[in-house]
Amino acid sequence: MHLRIYDGSGSAPEQTGGAGGCSCGSAPAHDHRHAGMTRRSFLLRGSGAVGGLAALAASLAPLRELEKGDNFSLQQFLQKHYKEMSPEEMEKALERIRAQVEHKFGVQPNIRDIKPLDGVEFVYALNLSRCTGIRKCVHACVAENNQSHDPEIQYIRVLEMPRGTLNVERSNHYYDPETVPEPDKFYMPVQCHQCANPPCVKVCPVEATWQEPDGITVIDYDWCIGCRYCEAACPYWARRFNFAKPNVPKERLNPNMSYLSNRPRPKGVMEKCTFCLHRTREGRKPACLEACPTGARKFGNILDPESEVSQILRTKRVFVLKEEVGTHPRFFYYFDDHDPRAPDVQPPRAEVLDQAEREAAQRDREALQAGAAS
Ligand code: SF4
Ligand code: SF4
Repeated sequence: MHLRIYDGSGSAPEQTGGAGGCSCGSAPAHDHRHAGMTRRSFLLRGSGAVGGLAALAASLAPLRELEKGDNFSLQQFLQKHYKEMSPEEMEKALERIRAQVEHKFGVQPNIRDIKPLDGVEFVYALNLSRCTGIRKCVHACVAENNQSHDPEIQYIRVLEMPRGTLNVERSNHYYDPETVPEPDKFYMPVQCHQCANPPCVKVCPVEATWQEPDGITVIDYDWCIGCRYCEAACPYWARRFNFAKPNVPKERLNPNMSYLSNRPRPKGVMEKCTFCLHRTREGRKPACLEACPTGARKFGNILDPESEVSQILRTKRVFVLKEEVGTHPRFFYYFDDHDPRAPDVQPPRAEVLDQAEREAAQRDREALQAGAAS
């Protein structure tokens, strides 16, 4: 059994939507946005396009916000999709966001559009033998990514399970003992797994979410219509919806921002973990990793055979959550050998494609695409 992690070209072969293709039956290389749905055309087509007045009502949420006097500009509404913006248009968008942040928080943000690096595909590896369930990662993530503090939005859930079991459906993430870890428990943090075959991307009716070449699935908050289809499609409960207006105290705003990660979000849009792309694309580690006091979290470039994560994936008995759903996560778990907290029956080892296998998978994918196009 192979766990498929793909090189920076986009989608897994079986993927029919999102970054690498679409489900409309046209040639895979064609661009869905040019052929059909955009955020604005979605608004115009309304309920007929995706079915239901509820979706139309959700699509109009930004306009409702406008009526309430939020700082929502015509420029923002008419803005192009992220992938269609020229550098000049992106600079204008960043200028607008800078002005909005300054107006609302009284600080000048350092906001940029930080691109993926060539030859990088990020993966995470988490040593469950070391996790003590202390949730430092959860709170570091909230602070780093400017998530709403009230109501609090958290990207990371730490699941508590009885020692020796691995049943996430019966886990508890509201545990609250006086001290952790409890001797008969183990803890499993879950966040976006940056799937190589992400169902969340396939279901988005306006392509507001997609997978980047370094494997990170992102959301353009200015393009999201808040339909929540992606939330329903994610098997890992990794997406968070802003039901209420996000509330970040001025003094706790992180001014180091990027367009596709931690810039402030409005009410009515989806958000999620981005592996802290505003840090990791510049060579830093995710905030959750830095905050972890036990060293349970490891992160790096799977395309570098010398990276720590490459070595872990080669030498440890790593496994992924819900392997059977075919999402091919880039988030791996493992236990230390002979850890008494490990489940009695270890899950099968997830195998990772080496470079030759990746190249073969890429050739297969190109052959499939050529066949579909002919
Ligand atoms: Fe999408 Fe969920 Fe996979 Fe993240 S974990 S890429 S939100 S399906
Ligand atoms: Fe796309 Fe999700 Fe936003 Fe709906 S809620 S538009 S599926 S990103």
